[in-house]
Amino acid sequence: MEPWHTEMALDAVRRGARMRGMLRRQLLTLPTVVITLAIGCSRPADSPRAEYKHSDQVMGTFAEVKAVAPNAEVAKAAVAAAYARFDDVNRLMSDYVDDSDIGRLNQLAAGQLLTVAPETFRCLQRGVVISTESGGAFDMTCRPLVLCWRAAAKAQRLPTEQELSNVRQAVGYEKIVLDEGSRTVMLTVDNMQVDLGGIAKGYALDLAWQAMREKGATSAMIDVGGDVVAMGTRADGKPWRIGVRHPFQDGMYCTLRLRDCAVATSGVQQQFFEIDGRRYSHIIDPRTGQPAAQSPSVTVIASDGLTADAWATAFSVLSIAEAQPMAEQLDGIEVLWISGPAESPQVVQTSGFAAYVTE
Ligand code: ADP
Ligand code: MG
Repeated sequence: MEPWHTEMALDAVRRGARMRGMLRRQLLTLPTVVITLAIGCSRPADSPRAEYKHSDQVMGTFAEVKAVAPNAEVAKAAVAAAYARFDDVNRLMSDYVDDSDIGRLNQLAAGQLLTVAPETFRCLQRGVVISTESGGAFDMTCRPLVLCWRAAAKAQRLPTEQELSNVRQAVGYEKIVLDEGSRTVMLTVDNMQVDLGGIAKGYALDLAWQAMREKGATSAMIDVGGDVVAMGTRADGKPWRIGVRHPFQDGMYCTLRLRDCAVATSGVQQQFFEIDGRRYSHIIDPRTGQPAAQSPSVTVIASDGLTADAWATAFSVLSIAEAQPMAEQLDGIEVLWISGPAESPQVVQTSGFAAYVTE
């Protein structure tokens, strides 16, 4: 399996950075995800509410899936169904897989049509809506800029204004044409490239939960690289507890109590470009071509994974002053921003966020 994200974390690994990056590198050599090995049971097999969990590497990161179901068999099948969906998303939507829908789309000339899988189409369609709602801060056509910054990091020099403006003409979500009837996608400008790195992990969570429910799971906690859906309750009937990582030190900044919702965090802790000893966000501001520099940690709670993931990316691009009123207007979305300086972090949150925090 190919890595889902960019190779920036590989650079981080080479500099002795963290485990998630290491997993990504190991993944380059792993052909498939092994589902059956580590499934463990935390309650007896004949318990009326069995909870199973399994951790593995998927989509270039680390996943943990817990299922609660009437019995152990069902819980086990539900967990396997979730991992099968992660594989589907990777196969269809990774820009690293040449024959995925997105890989194929990126190889087409401007104006050519491609029929894509219903899942890919839905993801693009919902992504475009969030692009519009976020005033273009979220933009799945950022890939040429991402590639430009990746090359710059490799060469250890900042991209020039000229290089950035050359690729910027190929960036813009409004240049994607989607036709629902024929399920076709068209990129209308030469050299356009799509990258679902800011949305597909969240979408994979939603597809996984749907598959788990179809198998008979009554509750689940699904974590892919720190983006989480927490559906129903734990086997003991209590809400799921999910930590928000501290951006400036090891450990958690706070713990959230979640039920029937999703949470995603975007930030520079795990993935970044490093040039001349300075870290640049892997999220690009499509309006300027520069890496986002607003907040090192943005956490979004939403009703589903796709929404949480995409808005966490969007709110990393927008300034807090721009984003906070926008977030207050959006139905069912709560946001937490943690910014520097590291010695005394500045914390801003939307009005309903505190209700989810346990400590
Ligand atoms: P993470 O993958 O660390 O959870 P995000 O969900 O914020 O982070 O996604 C970041 C990825 O999204 C980048 O690596 C890149 O592939 C893509 N991306 C970068 N900038 C944007 C943007 N402005 N809008 C949408 N996607 C973006
Ligand atoms: Mg995202």
